[in-house]
Amino acid sequence: MNESTSTAAVIGGSVTGLAVATGLNNIEDFTQVTVYERQEYDEKRVDCGEAINDTTLIPLEKTPKNGFVNDIDGFQLHVYESTDRRLEADPLATSDLRCDPGYICERDTVERRWADRLASSSVEFRTGRSVSPAEYAEIVETYDYVIDASGQPSLTLKSKGKTEEYTGDMIALNATVEGDFSVYVNRPRIFFEGYVGYAWSFPKSEHHANVGIGWAGEQRPDDYFNALKSAAERNGFPIPEREQVNIATIPKGPSLDPGTVYFPEGNVFLVGDAAGIANRYQGEGICQGIRSADLLTGLIAGGNESAYPQELYKLMKSEYRLAHLMRGAWVEHEDPELLAAVTEALDGLTIDEITRQPAVVIRHILNRPMTAAKLISDTGMIRRLYDSYTDSWEYAVARGS
Ligand SMILES: Cc1cc2nc3c(=O)[nH]c(=O)nc-3n(C[C@H](O)[C@H](O)[C@H](O)COP(=O)(O)OP(=O)(O)OC[C@H]3O[C@@H](n4cnc5c(N)ncnc54)[C@H](O)[C@@H]3O)c2cc1C
Repeated sequence: MNESTSTAAVIGGSVTGLAVATGLNNIEDFTQVTVYERQEYDEKRVDCGEAINDTTLIPLEKTPKNGFVNDIDGFQLHVYESTDRRLEADPLATSDLRCDPGYICERDTVERRWADRLASSSVEFRTGRSVSPAEYAEIVETYDYVIDASGQPSLTLKSKGKTEEYTGDMIALNATVEGDFSVYVNRPRIFFEGYVGYAWSFPKSEHHANVGIGWAGEQRPDDYFNALKSAAERNGFPIPEREQVNIATIPKGPSLDPGTVYFPEGNVFLVGDAAGIANRYQGEGICQGIRSADLLTGLIAGGNESAYPQELYKLMKSEYRLAHLMRGAWVEHEDPELLAAVTEALDGLTIDEITRQPAVVIRHILNRPMTAAKLISDTGMIRRLYDSYTDSWEYAVARGS
């Protein structure tokens, strides 16, 4: 930090913004931390599967009262040939992934309780109104630090007219439904069914669940709600009411040039979805957002915040690579049998390993030489390997470098 006392504005008070406020509030030299959130926490509605895979990152006790309603063992992946099948059809493969620190949450409650805690320890909240571009300029002028946690596309890039700099997104729908989830309450299900994306059923209890579907590729259905309805029918979860369904986009990391997450002239930093860092394979973004917040506030505490773009990239690099390769296992081959073999090879691993530890995943796949050979016997897959290990992401191609 450059000054002996500092002020900070955090724009966006969702998981990432709350993690930033927590980190800054712990730095003695900050005399004022203000969170601007356009929604009210009592009425907040989030577009999310509500799976928080590493809840140890959140400084709340893991109780139902704090929104941590289902302490899961892990997830079960189901791989099917296609969407054209009967309800009772057997999957080509299933695979159990462990996730000890994971919960299916009531995310609204988690955020409300987290905000309450911060408010009672001197963080100021200004809620219920969207920060406009004009107010944004004033905020940048007023505060020593501005942390943009406003999601994708960020208010910063909107204000600069640069939202086209995000180079990729996924689209997803979700809703909470009532039903009988007792059979798999501790092991939420993810269904791969022959398109680029997946459907999910994440029980919050034996009687209700967050369900949804998302697509990451160019091929998306014409009618999203009907696609969710069909996914519910064939995967055996209740069909949500249309008015209960949320729809939103997720950036697929790294969807933004790492250099674009820091604007030194206004001391503005982008974190979480605003920085375009959600996982490009499975769309997870909560832990990624919190990790970016922890990284940034740690750097600010050490007076080294200008290193944030490089450090964020370093933190996320393995995850970007692995997600790009995992996506390729389907996209480059479109072979359900191969995807089934890869899925089986991952059985027993943790979510952290299949998300952030390429060496572990590669070792497990190499244990099945036929599967490994088939996977890389494709120019698209080799291209992906080359691109991900030379950091050739879409944003570089988009700007022509
Ligand atoms: C359908 C769906 C399912 C998903 N499921 C999961 C999942 O199960 N697990 C997981 O880890 N990730 C999941 N994700 C991704 C995850 O939701 C995001 O990556 C995560 O919410 C990012 O958090 P964030 O705090 O960075 O941004 P956001 O959650 O987008 O929060 C941004 C905040 O900023 C506020 N804001 C925006 N503009 C302004 C403004 N101008 N003024 C004031 N406030 C403003 C918003 O109200 C919001 O509260 C899912 C995404 C979708 C769409």
